[in-house]
Amino acid sequence: MPRRTHAVPLPSPAAGTRQQLLLHRFAPDEARHGGGHPKAYIQASLHADETPGLLVAHHLLRLLDDAATRGDVTGEIVLVPYANPIGLAQFFDQRLMGRYEFALAGGNFNRNWPDLAALAAERLDGRLTDDAAGNVAAIRATFRAALAEQRPQSALAALRLALAREACDADLVLDLHCDDLALPHLFLIPQHWPEAQDLAAELAVRAVLLAEDSGGASFDEAFSTPWLRLARRYPDVPIPPVCLAATVELRGWMDVDDAQAEADARALYRVLQRRGLLAGDPGPLPEPACRATDLAATDSLKAPAAGIVVYKVRPGDRVAKGDPICDLVDPAAEDPADARTHVEATTEGLVLSVRSHRYVAPGMALAKIVGTEPLSHRFGYLLED
Ligand SMILES: [Zn+2]
Repeated sequence: MPRRTHAVPLPSPAAGTRQQLLLHRFAPDEARHGGGHPKAYIQASLHADETPGLLVAHHLLRLLDDAATRGDVTGEIVLVPYANPIGLAQFFDQRLMGRYEFALAGGNFNRNWPDLAALAAERLDGRLTDDAAGNVAAIRATFRAALAEQRPQSALAALRLALAREACDADLVLDLHCDDLALPHLFLIPQHWPEAQDLAAELAVRAVLLAEDSGGASFDEAFSTPWLRLARRYPDVPIPPVCLAATVELRGWMDVDDAQAEADARALYRVLQRRGLLAGDPGPLPEPACRATDLAATDSLKAPAAGIVVYKVRPGDRVAKGDPICDLVDPAAEDPADARTHVEATTEGLVLSVRSHRYVAPGMALAKIVGTEPLSHRFGYLLED
């Protein structure tokens, strides 16, 4: 069956203008492949200024169209080629600023997603049984019903709701992002490791960062963690964690080229094959390029002062605790001998990301270092924002 493309209008941001999402939906020919098929949901660039995902989605759309022509679609696949038209319109000083919402100071687009477990919980009282598959179906129907009742009051709320309605009943949710100057990596909940090894190996990610609750109610966690919360609320019935949701960090801002994006799209295609959404042999699974680690073991170094950032390391370097990561040079220091603040690694590990713009204010992120031992200062809110 060919894909169907839906346009989802968002509230007009200003008189005379319109914004809309596009959803590309691929579905199996049920006469050929039967019912009960899995669902995958893939969206690009919820942080609208993180461009690699947009190009990966462009290549993936072509691959999926070809699969549909061959009759190779065996599950439902929803591809959102640009998840954030609000952010894509936020230019300032010739730069796209797509991480935080401007209009109503709505904050980071990838925080404060709805708590599906809270929305569904009371409606499920007395309805769950010993039948795990029946519980999964009942919970998904309840998520859909609860979101169908919501009436968004802003363009941002309408955007969140449109995306959540599509992702809430998927088996696989992939949210395509990127970092600044970075190696590819994934964020997952620990309950989905090693289940997600195929995704990590196909994308050759260099880090898999696990946290059950990173503190920010991010998009991926909005669909993976409700199953854990409901399992705790209803401990006497089986509720498996059936939605594998990942934030996929496709390297850095600058890593936008056709060869890389097509390779990433083909990697995602093979993941969809391995998970029963597309027919065809994906070939042997590559060797993984890393092991998974606790997100609380990844240090996120912050600038202790304003200044010029002079790095001593690059992504991919391995460092020991106490190794120099960068200097902050204060241009206001009258004596150059007093101008430098040294920033050192607080853990042994892999330098995963650094920043491209080389002047910072206090508190801004300087680098991520992936260690293996949880750090005592890393608890509660684990994200950089
Ligand atoms: Zn992002």
